[in-house]
Parts: sequence; structure tokens; C-alpha cells
Amino acid sequence: AVEVHDVHKWYGSQRVLEAVALTVRPGEVAVVLGPSGSGKSTLLRVINHLEKPEIGHVSLNGELIGVRRHRGRLKELSERAILAQRSRIGFVFQNFNLFPHLTVLDNVAAAPVATGKLTGAEAREQARGLLARVGLADKAAAYPRQLSGGQQQRVAIARALALRPGVILFDEPTSALDPELVGEVLAVIKDLAGSGTTLLVVTHEIGFAREVADRVVFMDAGRIVEQGPPEQVLDHPRHERTRDFLSKVL
Ligand code: ATP
Ligand code: MG
Repeated sequence: AVEVHDVHKWYGSQRVLEAVALTVRPGEVAVVLGPSGSGKSTLLRVINHLEKPEIGHVSLNGELIGVRRHRGRLKELSERAILAQRSRIGFVFQNFNLFPHLTVLDNVAAAPVATGKLTGAEAREQARGLLARVGLADKAAAYPRQLSGGQQQRVAIARALALRPGVILFDEPTSALDPELVGEVLAVIKDLAGSGTTLLVVTHEIGFAREVADRVVFMDAGRIVEQGPPEQVLDHPRHERTRDFLSKVL
């Protein structure tokens, strides 16, 4: 499970996350909704310790992320230990962030080799399997610039899977795509749902949330305003802010 315990994050005097508490159980799909600036990306970045919360902490399957307890206080782990933890948390970005100078196959094979988890031959074999899973077996030798946005994002998902993470965080994975390419990326994410990997997906795709999410989390101004099953949050929202937001995106 991913557990976010009473996280507060601020930049100077700006409160970006306030008392955020969230549990995503193993294998669950949580979709995070909310207006621009509500803290969705910051929440994902806190979960993999790219951002350090001022108060609170995150754990993955019971293990603290980025910190350890020392005499009742939280102390930062070494950079090396943080990187090792981060390799168990996949991250898929809005803008794909593929390595432009590597082929598609090497984009997917690179991390398991760099982290010493697989040999080059094993990593390439695994990468072929992952590319087949996202429907891109025929693009292994291509370079990212030769692919459409939707194809690049599917490579990014295959790359995230290559480290066999327990959880994958998606930050608006389809919002940089032309509308006709959104469906192919959502289909790949949907395919991962139910495969045992825990997914946290920030997206404005309400249809996807309704169909795939176990839990919908609505954020506004740094707080979780409400969360629950999609039919509850999307069809019977309890809060005015949620109703207002949904009326604008639906
Ligand atoms: P969007 O839907 O536009 O992606 P978001 O919900 O992901 O928005 P965040 O990116 O988490 O929002 O930002 C939340 C707030 O924190 C914003 O007001 C943003 O300006 C601020 N913020 C984010 N990162 C930083 C930073 N590194 N330094 C200062 N302020 C920041
Ligand atoms: Mg964001």
C-alpha cells in the first residue's frame, strides 16, 4: 500500500499541501482530480521523495520513503538509499521524458542494467516483452523522435514497468497528446489496472476515472476535499467545490 500520512508541504509562505492523508491499497487504482495548482503534481513528487514534506511522511508497503526514524524524529536517508527506493516507484510524466539518443528498446532496457538488476541481454529480452505488451514490438529499433506522442508515452510506460515497481505514478499522462492519441495510452494504463501494480493517476479524463478507478480523490487548494469510489465522488459529490469542478470538466 501507498500511505501518505498527514503531509504538509509549503514553498515559502505558500501552502501547497495541507494535511494530505491517503491510502492506496496494493493493486488499487486511484485517480487524482483537481484544478490547476491544487497540488496534484506536488503530491506525486512527495510520494517518490522528489519533494520533501515539511510535516508528515509517506510509506510504501510499510517502509518509510526517503527518511528513517531516529530518536523519534525523521532523518533523511542517503541519496543512494533514496535512489534505490525510487527505483521501486515508477513515474510517467506528461512529456514522456524519453532519452532521445537511445533507441526505444534501449530506453526500456537501460534502467534495469544501470541499477544492476539485470544483465544487458536479460534487460533487452524483458524490454521486448514489455514493448509487445504496450503494442510496440515493431518499434524497438526506432528513436523517440520517430514516434507519435501516444507511442512515446507507451514506451515511457514500458520503461516504468522495466524496474517492476510496486507502484506507478502517472502525472497527466495524456494531457500533452492530440485527442485521437489519448485512447491508446489510456488503454495501456487500463490494461495495467488489475495486474497487481498499484496505480496513482493524475488525469482530467473523467471517463477513465469512472471506468478504471477504484478510488477517486478530489484535491483543491492543497487539500483532499473528498475521496471515494467513482460513483460516489463523480455522481454524488458531497462538496460544493467538487460539484463546481466536475461541472466544468464534464
Ligand atoms: P496542474 O494541474 O497545473 O499541473 P497541480 O495540481 O499539479 O497543477 P502543483 O504543480 O502541485 O499543482 O502546484 C501546486 C502549487 O505549488 C502551485 O501554486 C505551484 O505554483 C506551486 N509550486 C509547485 N512547485 C513549486 C516550486 N518548486 N516552487 C514554488 N512553488 C511551487
Ligand atoms: Mg501538475
